Amino acid sequence: MARLKVTSPATGKPIASLEADDAKSVKAKYEAARAAQAKWARVPLKKRLAAIAEFRERVLEQVDPLAKVLTSETGKPITQARNELKGFLPRIDFFLAETAKTLKPEKVSKAAGMEEVISHEPLGVIANISAWNYPWFVGGNVFVPALLAGNAILYKPSEYAAMTGLEIARLLHESGIPKDVFVPLIGAGDVGAALLKQPVDGVFFTGSYATGKKIAQSVRGRMLKLQLELGGKDPVYVCEDVDIAKAAAGIADGAFYNTGQSCCSVERIYVRDSIFPQFVKAFVDEVKTYRAGDPLDDATYIGPLTRAPQVKVLEAQVADAKKKGAKVLTGGKRGKGSRFEPTVLVDVNHKMAVMREESFGPVIGLMSVKDDAEAQRLMNDTDYGLTAGVYTTDRKRAERILAGVHAGSVYWNCCDRVSPRLPWSGVGHSGVGLTLSTYGIETFTRLKAWHLRSP
Ligand code: NAD
Repeated sequence: MARLKVTSPATGKPIASLEADDAKSVKAKYEAARAAQAKWARVPLKKRLAAIAEFRERVLEQVDPLAKVLTSETGKPITQARNELKGFLPRIDFFLAETAKTLKPEKVSKAAGMEEVISHEPLGVIANISAWNYPWFVGGNVFVPALLAGNAILYKPSEYAAMTGLEIARLLHESGIPKDVFVPLIGAGDVGAALLKQPVDGVFFTGSYATGKKIAQSVRGRMLKLQLELGGKDPVYVCEDVDIAKAAAGIADGAFYNTGQSCCSVERIYVRDSIFPQFVKAFVDEVKTYRAGDPLDDATYIGPLTRAPQVKVLEAQVADAKKKGAKVLTGGKRGKGSRFEPTVLVDVNHKMAVMREESFGPVIGLMSVKDDAEAQRLMNDTDYGLTAGVYTTDRKRAERILAGVHAGSVYWNCCDRVSPRLPWSGVGHSGVGLTLSTYGIETFTRLKAWHLRSP
């Protein structure tokens, strides 16, 4: 039997060895899920809702131990791990409140003995291949509404968050979701690839653009639903009329929270030239207050990087920027193990990788701009399009700029924010499809058209 070794990003030491899947077990689990799905779809929605409500209560009761598991395998600072678990609860509440209304059959016409109805049918058996950076959020955005809609799910958590994946499965099963209806598959990319060989009805992926592209290629020509939630290079533009200290603190948090490893982390900052020096000073002062340390310590804000090889990516981005003229104002070097110092760069430009490629770590570049048009042009100078923000006291100005920015989510005076009520989607290399909002419930269904003529 294959094993997956789990290593602590904080210490570099092994912490677990998990039973892993292989092509044969993936096929057997797919077949069991296929056999179980129709029965699950016939379970009344009320009962499915009750199981998810029970799951919510179990997550709430176990926030502390679940946060410790997440921190131990990803290095996420413990307060941020607790925040993720607590933040997951209102997302579940949203789905509990909205699913019955959203999936209710809709009578669209009843004229002259001819009734027309639209119903939502589950997709069937779906594959969910997930990322490690917010496993409760990105996993839950799929498995909660997909289960409520009557699908069976083969869930492949990231190999960097597999213990959390198993905890999710345990809690769902304890809450009444049948074992063949939510099925964790443990392993790395090869297990994900084996899953994609099964005749699933939908593929819901969260991860990098590079893997998303491979997945799109591997399912090419198949009649299934494909959603890809991918990376970002999310910009923020700061206008001259802001409260500098407040904007700097909010944006720095948006850039460095989760050690910069959020899909919607702020990764580029454009600042109006007239306030550039003051903003940079306030920003650097804020970043210098961030405490790096043991992720299990409540006082720690910056943890190790979850994936050790990412240190090299950050080193290369900083070296490339320096070579092309950038100045490091704080940080700039690797620390012990998989740590990287919180790093702020100025004198950056778009010839540098740090301003164009996803960093996914605690590194940020700040650039001065002469007007709104230049800011908008630079914000759009990327293949990604996940989020973008504008900080100004003038709402109309923000809306004018944001209307012309290519991104799935746009922010006025906020950043790094996700709401269960709003669709989460990207454009370009940030992906296709969406989760969250009522559309993120419908997305796990097929619409069926009923033409009903009375005899
Ligand atoms: P990744 O692409 O390395 O891995 C994601 C998942 O794909 C993992 O479960 C991995 O095992 C699996 N995988 C790898 N190769 C595969 C293959 N050939 N076939 C099938 N599955 C395969 O990404 P990651 O490091 O886990 O996550 C970080 C990335 O995810 C960042 O780019 C981040 O921006 C993005 N992300 C996006 C969102 C969003 O909502 N848009 C949310 C979180 C993370």
